[in-house]
Amino acid sequence: MSFIEEIARRRTFGIISHPDAGKTTLTEKLLLFGGAIQEAGAVKSNKIKKGATSDFMEIERQRGISVATSVLAFNYKDKKINILDTPGHKDFAEDTFRTLTAVDSVIVVIDVAKGVEEQTEKLVEVCRMRNIPMIVFINKLDREGKDAFDLMDEVEQKLKLRVTPLSFPIGMGYDFKGIYNIWEKNINLFEGDSRKNIEETIAFSDIESKELEGIIGEKPANRLREELELIGEVYPAFSTEEYLSGDLQPVFFGSALNNFGVRELLDCFVEIAPTPRAKESDTRLVRPEEEKLSGFVFKIHANMDPKHRDRLAFVKIVSGTFEKNKPYLHVRQGKNLKFSSPNAFFAEKKEIVDISYPGDIVGLHDTGNFKIGDTLTEGEKMNFKGIPSFSPEHFRYINNADPLKSKQLEKGIDQLMDEGVAQLFTLEMNGRKVIGTVGALQYEVIQYRLEHEYSAKCTYENFPAFKACWVKPQDPKNEEFAEFKRVKQKFMGTDKYGQLVFLADSEFSIQMTQQKYPSVELFFTSDFQ
Ligand code: GDP
Repeated sequence: MSFIEEIARRRTFGIISHPDAGKTTLTEKLLLFGGAIQEAGAVKSNKIKKGATSDFMEIERQRGISVATSVLAFNYKDKKINILDTPGHKDFAEDTFRTLTAVDSVIVVIDVAKGVEEQTEKLVEVCRMRNIPMIVFINKLDREGKDAFDLMDEVEQKLKLRVTPLSFPIGMGYDFKGIYNIWEKNINLFEGDSRKNIEETIAFSDIESKELEGIIGEKPANRLREELELIGEVYPAFSTEEYLSGDLQPVFFGSALNNFGVRELLDCFVEIAPTPRAKESDTRLVRPEEEKLSGFVFKIHANMDPKHRDRLAFVKIVSGTFEKNKPYLHVRQGKNLKFSSPNAFFAEKKEIVDISYPGDIVGLHDTGNFKIGDTLTEGEKMNFKGIPSFSPEHFRYINNADPLKSKQLEKGIDQLMDEGVAQLFTLEMNGRKVIGTVGALQYEVIQYRLEHEYSAKCTYENFPAFKACWVKPQDPKNEEFAEFKRVKQKFMGTDKYGQLVFLADSEFSIQMTQQKYPSVELFFTSDFQ
């Protein structure tokens, strides 16, 4: 297969949802279709197995959330599909935001009874801002839920999307009879107790045909016809171009648990979802078809085995091919690195590969060279854009609780910050370290990992900040900037790249600062340059 054909068959995407909407279940069913796993439950049971062998994973398991963002790849028809798993828990939202910089499209899973939930809103907003193509999957149709039209209204209003259904439910909950597939023009009947892998569909090109009554009954048949008519009047016709530019989002209905409506989703997905997309760097737009390699690190995963301290850096390949033992430029460090055992991912396994293509993710063993956002090239000095740090929402001083282990503590903090577990700020005034996180849970994770992976102990103390504002003076030499720094000195710090940050203690204080020092600009993500 040629290089261009390899690119054309790749589909790299993420599934986003509020916890419990059914992301894991859907992922598992997709893997079943790809033949990558043999039985339902494999994805989950594997998580538990891993949990039993490592303490850190045990925390994760006990809390019932997935801390790790992993890659699941499989083949379906002639396509190579890479699913980047995204943690749904809000405390790990930043992890998910970063993963979204590495996907080419997303599937949004919504619970039919709960509708649009908080976490879905936040994640979809990030995708919308980046014009990432999105497909919506409304899940749990085997249960009573909201009316399909109301739900689509809700999706339009709350998620600010423009939707059009490509499948439509016939009844719901107890009366759920099946799904009319608008995309393929056929009916798929639901049998309540069936958890079969491949369903049979009944082709139905003419919805007016009297046969419909015979299959689903008179009342539901009439209702379906009315609903389809309404859909034709109210919703725009599906257009692949509009979907790809992020202007139109097709909606599917189904039940992941019952493996219902999943094949329809997957079949449409492989046809319409984008191939690996071009990506902006600080100097130019990089296209996947370019021969030379480029890629960026979007995730660093600590090794779960405490005996092997190395980490796995996840690199999304943007252009060219990634080959084993070939030297690549680590742009930030300005040095060449070779990798003798790059990992590729297949289902839940990883294995060493010789060559990977745009759209693929390679896992590189790393002993501390990489930070999130680092770019690899074949010599070109450029950096991919778009992995900003957002302002944390919680701030605490971190103190050393074991004076004999200060070196270990420093190393541990340094490495955990490189992984993107949290953000570190150093106060200008006295050099004290403040850790900022998105959720309170990360403090426990950090404390636990410092102790178990670095033999260091820490305690926390409250720091009264509310938001981190990255500071950019119009003129670093002017009097106003000097005064701002003097007045706010207790709240001034630097992030780990040495950028100046104002750790504001309230919204009010941010507003006052903006009024009083108009020449000092404040930014709420680190991506302001
Ligand atoms: P995640 O947190 O989004 O990954 O959600 P899970 O896939 O773990 O699902 C959460 C719960 O919803 C589990 O108990 C699933 O068995 C259940 N679930 C998933 N899909 C369906 C569905 O189609 N119908 C019903 N009734 N339950 C479902």
